[in-house]
Amino acid sequence: MRYYVLDRGDQLSLELAESFHKLAADQGLIRDADSPDIVVSIGGDGTMLHAFHSFMDRIASTAFVGVHTGHLGFYADWKADEIPELVQMMAGDPEDSHLKPRIVQYPLVDLEIVKQSGVLKHVCLNEFTLKSVDGTVVLQVDINDHMFEMFRGDGICVSTPSGSTAYNKSLGGAMIHPSIEAFQISEIASINNRVFRTMGSSLVLPNHHHCDIYSRKEQNLLLTVDHVNLRVSDLISVRCKVAEQKISFVRYRPFPFWTRVRNAFLD
Ligand code: NAD
Repeated sequence: MRYYVLDRGDQLSLELAESFHKLAADQGLIRDADSPDIVVSIGGDGTMLHAFHSFMDRIASTAFVGVHTGHLGFYADWKADEIPELVQMMAGDPEDSHLKPRIVQYPLVDLEIVKQSGVLKHVCLNEFTLKSVDGTVVLQVDINDHMFEMFRGDGICVSTPSGSTAYNKSLGGAMIHPSIEAFQISEIASINNRVFRTMGSSLVLPNHHHCDIYSRKEQNLLLTVDHVNLRVSDLISVRCKVAEQKISFVRYRPFPFWTRVRNAFLD
């Protein structure tokens, strides 16, 4: 079993990473930054976003597991004091039915960003947003190659099911169980009056649909892909769809989505 640890970089996460390495060496796990079977993120949800983007090119053969150093995260279910137990599980015989981990896969959103200066490809774990840097954005939204609406406002958020509990939730979007292969388009402060009109509700699209967002004026835009920010002044369009790849999480014990939702937002 080869593993890699990505920590948040603060003192506590660094210390936990060190103790993880010691325990892992005792159990015969191999530290491997290039081709790990499992990537362990130590920190919070933001650390898992970093881990995902760092290993995106190995997504088909790498599974992720999260240790949180603060409160329970959406992607991090192990507590700091449970690291010895986690290492033991990772080192256990995968054929032992008690230790055999479950692999849970979540959908991702695939982006093709077309600029006058070239095309960029990205994949997001939480969401993609397109926002104004200076004033109202004007964006045309097409669904499956048909014009759907002309958007004026602060921006648009396109989220994955597992990202639906993050920025999308703050925008009033629905929470979507990650077993549903879909993506969601939510508005960020749309202008709605007798002249300008948008749907107002979030839209949930299935995995065989796509959406194109066209920049409809010369505008400086802020494009975010999870925690990554990009400034773009020559955007033509962004095509969004459910990605062919999925992220795999390794589960040594249950971590039900609706329990996470309840614990995070109600309890
Ligand atoms: P950050 O540290 O500001 O994290 C923001 C919060 O989002 C943290 O509390 C984190 O636990 C939570 N979060 C992240 N992913 C989540 C998920 N899938 N479900 C529920 N909560 C989640 O910023 P960061 O660490 O760089 O993370 C970037 C993320 O922050 C973005 O992907 C976006 O979802 C989120 N964000 C939210 C808002 C908002 O709600 N208004 C605004 C900007 C960014």
